[in-house]
Amino acid sequence: MREDLLIPARHGMAVRLAYGDTVTIVNESGTQVVDTWAFCADDLSHAMSMEHSRVENGRLCAREGGQYVTDRREPILYVTQDASPGVHDTIMAACDPQRYINLGCKEPHRSCSCNLHEAMIAIECPIAKTPQPLNLFMNIPIGEDMTLIQGSPLGKPGDFVTLRALRDCIVAFSACPQDITPINGHSPSAVPLIIERGNVGAGAH
Ligand SMILES: [Zn+2]
Repeated sequence: MREDLLIPARHGMAVRLAYGDTVTIVNESGTQVVDTWAFCADDLSHAMSMEHSRVENGRLCAREGGQYVTDRREPILYVTQDASPGVHDTIMAACDPQRYINLGCKEPHRSCSCNLHEAMIAIECPIAKTPQPLNLFMNIPIGEDMTLIQGSPLGKPGDFVTLRALRDCIVAFSACPQDITPINGHSPSAVPLIIERGNVGAGAH
């Protein structure tokens, strides 16, 4: 069963996935970063962890065929397909109101952290903290002197990533509203999601 959803530009969305369900995140503009989180359905304090996933994968982000794990090192999301340059950030914190104040914004600015909490409240699953997100399509090159560079997006329109749930979970997304730095190509855009349910038996790996 296929379900098509659209995260409005600068907003967030949370969806429930059962074991074996997949979600495809489409980078329609080719320039949109999508902050992504996952929380275990039976315990929202048990969440996907970038720190633990970097150890698991031996690299900054999982490749196609790799997986993300929780802060208890339990598998939660499998990368079924990565039709993008495969450049995803796992070290930059989600943008939040203070980030935009620090960047000089005088007016309130939407943020990924607030989008996450809005989205989780909308499905009656409030959470206490903002875990480190998987920043899909976000290009943060690391310089030889360990400098972190706010890179421009490397993708092209229509790039996508498909993630499969390795347990019942809630996956939350934020179409990053960052328009001060170049990480979204200065043009935040909407993000289509394609959910496919009932794939148990198709094989999670
Ligand atoms: Zn953001």
